[in-house]
Amino acid sequence: MEQQRFRCAACNKLDRERVAGQRYCGAVKCQRKRKNKWRRERYARDATYRDTAQASTADSCTAWARR
Ligand SMILES: [Zn+2]
Repeated sequence: MEQQRFRCAACNKLDRERVAGQRYCGAVKCQRKRKNKWRRERYARDATYRDTAQASTADSCTAWARR
């Protein structure tokens, strides 16, 4: 199997993909960036989830059906 290559989203270095859809290389600073981004996105998603859960119950039905 041929390994995919990707360019790190943080330092622009070309690296071999070890995980499908990998965006950051193994450098500590890049991993830290990845974690920070993940945490921020998770927090944003949680906030959105809380808002929509309060806003309507009809929407949660559609969201469930879409899965
Ligand atoms: Zn990097």
